[in-house]
Amino acid sequence: MAPLASYVKNTAPSLNRALTACPSCDLLLTGTTALENHAALCPRCNELLHRDKHNSIVKTFSLSLTAILLYIPALFLPLLTMGILGTESTASIINAIYNLFVQQQFFVGFIVLLTAVIFPFFTLFSLCTVSFGLLTDHKKSWMPWMFRHYNHLRGWAMTDVFLVGILITIIKMAHSAEIELNLGFFCFVSLVVVTIASQTASDRRLFWSLLEPTCTKTTSSPSKPRAPSKDNTHVTKHVVCHTCHKMVWPSKKEAQSYSKCPRCGEKLHHRKKNSIMRTWALLCSAILFTFPANILPIMEVEYFGVPERSTILDGIVYFFQDGSYGIGIVILTASILVPLFKIIGLTIILTSIHFQWHTGRRHKAAMFRLIEFIGRWSMLDIFVIALLCTLVQFGFLSTITTAPAAFYFTCVVISTMLAAVTFDTRLLWDNDESTS
Ligand SMILES: [Zn+2]
Ligand SMILES: [Zn+2]
Repeated sequence: MAPLASYVKNTAPSLNRALTACPSCDLLLTGTTALENHAALCPRCNELLHRDKHNSIVKTFSLSLTAILLYIPALFLPLLTMGILGTESTASIINAIYNLFVQQQFFVGFIVLLTAVIFPFFTLFSLCTVSFGLLTDHKKSWMPWMFRHYNHLRGWAMTDVFLVGILITIIKMAHSAEIELNLGFFCFVSLVVVTIASQTASDRRLFWSLLEPTCTKTTSSPSKPRAPSKDNTHVTKHVVCHTCHKMVWPSKKEAQSYSKCPRCGEKLHHRKKNSIMRTWALLCSAILFTFPANILPIMEVEYFGVPERSTILDGIVYFFQDGSYGIGIVILTASILVPLFKIIGLTIILTSIHFQWHTGRRHKAAMFRLIEFIGRWSMLDIFVIALLCTLVQFGFLSTITTAPAAFYFTCVVISTMLAAVTFDTRLLWDNDESTS
């Protein structure tokens, strides 16, 4: 475990160039750049502020380029071949998505297309082009835009979740059919490993500091910290960019006209606009979608012409009855416990802000980080169903198709993920007289 970097807590704005604010709780800090092989954490909310990454640009470029080269074969080559009584069927990722559209699951198919194909490619392409530009010192005006969208979309690129979905499909079907791993599977495993490595290698703070236009670093920039003036023409309240974490000190005049971050172009707000209301709205939608998602069938299995519809819970019970406790627990966690935890956790956080319950804020901040981290793993069940519906197509012998709950369950996952995006964690720490 890397030791923590030291901090000098600073409660009053100064002309110190290293002055910054925690993006999670807005505490003013100095010296947040981690030393070699160290990590810097916020002393108030425990947010990871910076982790030193050696040779970040070269590693990011080479790993993201490798991932892009693996992308096409991983997507189009068959992942698995399944055989029952001499008949065979294969599934690739593109094949599985196409099959969802054929089965009239347009929304589910569209979300799987975005999360398993489009967003992973965009994030890799962004990392590759931006790191190449920085490596060769050819900075272009579109690079901050690319890197900004990389930061927004990397949580929505779910090739790693899809890989776990493939493994569960293999274990699920291994009892009843012969499963053969194809070249596409090995390309996809390599793609996931290299993608994770490239994202881990990228030092976001270093990338942003190199991407910053030179003019915004000068003393005439509105981003420069200012001391309060006697005639009150300067606003002393800082604004931290939600995306690149640049701290801006706009004057009253600049605050009226200056609406975009000078570094990444993101709209600047002291707090995310209507954060509480939007998060409540998305949370309520998720709660409403949870009922049909769990009551209605999610999958229809036709065995020798006899259809049988099963809900999410039926699928979990099947794994436990079959003795596959490991997969049963994984599906139970991803499909039921994680959405439930996200809904309960966000309700606790929002209620505590509404009633100004200031106790246990570090724990609530940690709970929110966990909600953000695990949110995407709920898509696991949808990916497994997409693969099963493509693989198990043996006519009269056995077929699997999606059922209505797939739509509602996807809505639950998307609503809770968007709720986490719209929530501004800094609201948890506002009016904190004890530490800020
Ligand atoms: Zn903090
Ligand atoms: Zn910014």
